[in-house]
Amino acid sequence: RAHDVADYLGGLNPEQREAVLTLDGPVLVLAGAGTGKTRVLTTRIAHIISQGKAYPGQILAVTFTNKAAREMKHRIGDLIGGNVEGMPWLGTFHSICVKILRRHAELAGLKSSFTILDTDDQLRLMKQIIQAEGLDDKRWTARTFASIVDSWKNRALTPEQVPEGEARAFGNGKGKKLYAEYQERLSILNAADFGDLLLHTITLFRNNPDVLAEYQKRFRYMLVDEYQDTNIAQYLWLRLLAQGNPNVCCVGDDDQSIYGWRGAEVDNILRFEHDFKGAKVIRLERNYRSTSNILAAASHLISHNEGRLGKTLFTDFEDPDADRVMVASSWDSEEEARTIGDEIEALQSKGHRLNDMAILVRASFQMREFEDRFVTLGLNYRVIGGPKFYERMEIRDAMAYFRCVAQPADDLAFERIVNKPKRGLGEATMKIVHGLARAERIPMMEAAGILCQTEELRPKARTVVKSLLTDFDRWRDQVETMPPTELAEIILDESGYTEMWRQDRSAEAPGRLDNLKELVRSVGEFETFAGFLEHVSLVMDRDAGVDDDAISLMTLHSAKGLEFDTVFLPGWEEGLFPHQRALDESGRAGLEEERRLAYVGITRAKHRARISFAVNRRIHGMWQSTVPSRFLDELPEDHVEVIEPNSSYGGYGAGGFGGYGASRFDNRDPFQSTYSTPGWQRAQRSRSSGSGGFEGRSRFAERNHRQGPKTIEGELVA
Ligand code: ATP
Ligand code: MG
Repeated sequence: RAHDVADYLGGLNPEQREAVLTLDGPVLVLAGAGTGKTRVLTTRIAHIISQGKAYPGQILAVTFTNKAAREMKHRIGDLIGGNVEGMPWLGTFHSICVKILRRHAELAGLKSSFTILDTDDQLRLMKQIIQAEGLDDKRWTARTFASIVDSWKNRALTPEQVPEGEARAFGNGKGKKLYAEYQERLSILNAADFGDLLLHTITLFRNNPDVLAEYQKRFRYMLVDEYQDTNIAQYLWLRLLAQGNPNVCCVGDDDQSIYGWRGAEVDNILRFEHDFKGAKVIRLERNYRSTSNILAAASHLISHNEGRLGKTLFTDFEDPDADRVMVASSWDSEEEARTIGDEIEALQSKGHRLNDMAILVRASFQMREFEDRFVTLGLNYRVIGGPKFYERMEIRDAMAYFRCVAQPADDLAFERIVNKPKRGLGEATMKIVHGLARAERIPMMEAAGILCQTEELRPKARTVVKSLLTDFDRWRDQVETMPPTELAEIILDESGYTEMWRQDRSAEAPGRLDNLKELVRSVGEFETFAGFLEHVSLVMDRDAGVDDDAISLMTLHSAKGLEFDTVFLPGWEEGLFPHQRALDESGRAGLEEERRLAYVGITRAKHRARISFAVNRRIHGMWQSTVPSRFLDELPEDHVEVIEPNSSYGGYGAGGFGGYGASRFDNRDPFQSTYSTPGWQRAQRSRSSGSGGFEGRSRFAERNHRQGPKTIEGELVA
């Protein structure tokens, strides 16, 4: 056994070792990226088990994702040799709460077989409740209500506890009543929504001291990773459990707090020292992940944030041949994807594995271009933390519309969208359509057409079906004559599908609209509508198996805790990154959270970080010249290498914007109506006034200004 101990402690530095060995009492490890926080947690668990301090079943360990939990389990096994049978309490907050709730469901007013509602069910239920209160569910939408309820649950507030003032804002002052009714309905349905999992567990603990005591006794050791992203409910939950036994070890990094928009409270770090008396705070300063160039770039960038607890970071990883952080520009996002694709292939040919590379984007719509490129190149890829672009709900819906136009016999597509947006076509109507289609062996749309000539459908349903079929006929007539992009846009507009998401107040809605725009944009790359549809079905068909060597594609938010040899960070443009919505909605705080996201992004890289931005981006169907992200100017010059674009179309990068290829610009898109971008103007203004965090002159904006085509008030000025 002594030998074992040496094995897993041997590689640790003194601070890490202290964090592993200080088993009694509260411990907070506050440390920057790549300093081994997660490794400390893993080793700590291994240590606890191998020293016989507790059985695996007596250790509570919380990770941010299920994937992280699986990995941790695996590593613990590696450390102590052989299998760790059962670490039943290693998982996310939610998975652990489900387990507790199932055991004591009746105390929370549920049966142990309770179901967990998905978002659709949740919204349907909320809508019923809103309507039952006699409220206009168009004005007071279920989605808005869902996000309000969610924020209450993130703060562990039951209906009784919601402050009066806050609840009044929704539903003509009925917010609280609606919330109470929603909770009651859930209980009758024997169901819980996602937020309930924590809320109910907390209520359960508060109302049943004996149950709480049981868990306090059970959990000899508690560990939490990514502590900076816990919300209030999670914090309260943890504090309840730790009252009996303060062996809590939390690890986190305030600079990586990136879920403020979902209710995470970085203040939980400050609360920890206050609430867990005698907490030992350990700082880790040595970074084991990244080269000194990468680390310097990330540290310098994050130093522009004001609200920080402050940390220093160093690395011994002084490789004289190490690459600097690269910054490259490209003409547009398509070229950005092409260049990155080329670089990936170049690395591959030098023996690098795809598994060691990742592309981290700010917004999911950016993935589309990369996915298309990978398919063209035949590179395996996987999307982490979310669906692939073409598998997203809104993209599947849109594609279903397109398929119905191109292939009228596509029943699956028809069924998918027949009542999306809501047209009042219920199951009864669809049953009749189905019946006829089956009996006559004809496609559903044809059956629907026949039924419109009869009395079988209710008059209202008949009118709706007729009008939908007329729409499809019209769109079909336009396939031959209209440019595919235009047609795609018209279909989504005239069907009311785009409008459905515009009306939607949920947090995901703007991202979905962006994805739809990106889809429409992508149609423009094809000569025919059919060509586009075929392309998508080919893309959808490809899926890298778990064992395949594949490059990872994900949002910056999903990249937390991960590391890769090479990391590509595309789309560093004002408005996209930092994201305009974050700036608009949360001002300075929003900007700082975006900067932390940039810090998370860069610090994922071990050897190579390659940042890029496109000089032009098509936004709302119009080409706009972009402003390079202010974050680029916040990188330390000494550690960055600016890559001049290779001039594949003459003069790009060399001869000012005259030679930048205005001709290419012209033959690419008839965009004479382009208007100078608001983002550009904003940047100009804030730069000259020195406000908005855009102080001084921008190296990159200057370059862009020199090189890029400038558009003013509807005219191309070259
Ligand atoms: P993040 O903040 O990104 O989650 P982290 O602080 O959790 O990072 P880890 O992922 O635990 O950092 O560690 C980063 C890398 O450094 C890992 O590859 C890990 O194996 C390695 N590492 C950590 N500590 C040591 C050590 N003492 N010796 C060698 N390698 C180490
Ligand atoms: Mg970690």
